[in-house]
Amino acid sequence: MHFKTLSIHTGHDPKAHLGAVMPPIFQTSTFAFDDVGVPGQYDYSRSGNPTRKALEDTLAALEGGVRGFAFATGMAAEATALMLFKTGDRLIVQSDLYGGTYRLLETVFRDKGISADYVDLRDLAALERAFETPAAGVWIESPTNPLMNLVDLERVAAIAKAHGAVTICDNTFLSPYFQRPLELGVDIALHSTTKYINGHSDVVGGGMVAREEAWAERIGFLQNAMGTCAGPQDCYLVLRGIKTLAVRMEEHNRNALGIARWLERHAGVSQVLHPGLESHPQHALARKQMKGFGGTFSFRVGGGAAAVDALLRRVKVFTLAESLGGVESLIDHPATMTHASIPPDVRAGMGIGDDLIRLSVGLEHLDDLIADLDQALSA
Ligand SMILES: *Cc1c(COP(=O)(O)O)cnc(C)c1O
Repeated sequence: MHFKTLSIHTGHDPKAHLGAVMPPIFQTSTFAFDDVGVPGQYDYSRSGNPTRKALEDTLAALEGGVRGFAFATGMAAEATALMLFKTGDRLIVQSDLYGGTYRLLETVFRDKGISADYVDLRDLAALERAFETPAAGVWIESPTNPLMNLVDLERVAAIAKAHGAVTICDNTFLSPYFQRPLELGVDIALHSTTKYINGHSDVVGGGMVAREEAWAERIGFLQNAMGTCAGPQDCYLVLRGIKTLAVRMEEHNRNALGIARWLERHAGVSQVLHPGLESHPQHALARKQMKGFGGTFSFRVGGGAAAVDALLRRVKVFTLAESLGGVESLIDHPATMTHASIPPDVRAGMGIGDDLIRLSVGLEHLDDLIADLDQALSA
């Protein structure tokens, strides 16, 4: 079946629930045993809950994996994924990645003996060199945040496999509607469902989907042992969000590309970083491995700090806020907001200067969004 159909019908059979077309929220911590020593299908909600199961089955279907898992947050999913490794393991990690992942690796897992070496995974020769020292895993993010660099998932997964390393891809930015890492050979797809998958800025959640049963079994064990799972109310909300994922992603994509093309012609803008533009250095790769470009991208404002300040203060339809992937449009200044914890010199070296703006383009009318940016940029 097609993605749109799967996103609406997977994980729930009305006949099993008094005809209810939406999955019930099983707000219960525990389940009665069938008999002495005989648990039913469920026994305790940390180990399994029917509402969570509906979401987990849906995530697995949409990513094309054997099993899905729902977590309390994207970071809970990441923490669980990193527990797949053991003391002494070394990871090769995309150098330009979500700040929270960097913080988790450096301030939590390094102490426990799981180390990360950061490599620009656009450079496959650099990846091969990194494997001269054995590595247990490769952590990928594509497109990267906020610079919109792409990683060739198929080739990176193949190199990692040749070296016996597991690949994990944070697929938050595109959702499985636009990118399916498991089909390209990646072992585990990971999400902050807080973003596009839920899409309504009213839940924090995480997800993981494994391509093969061996990894799924291990993730399921850790989810239960560590207790990082999502609660039933949040699972219900994420499931509801997923029902419109396909139509939302189409519209996010259309609006974002429309704004990117308009910004590219604007005299007050020095550069637009959007993989759907012919000017993006990896536009061909975007067309090859993505079905769309998503709703989040960045651009650089000319005219110095005053112009950036005016833009951020004058926008009315865009809200100055962190996060992304919701129905409402957000504007972010990475240098002072999402990426402020990176030391200024490191940040500048990465290309996250004070002139960089990130947009999460929502589902408002494109003309209103462009008019809003126009008045704010012409201050
Ligand atoms: C937001 C985000 C996360 C973390 O997810 P939370 O739900 O906030 O814990 C991880 N990766 C990416 C790419 C994100 O955007």
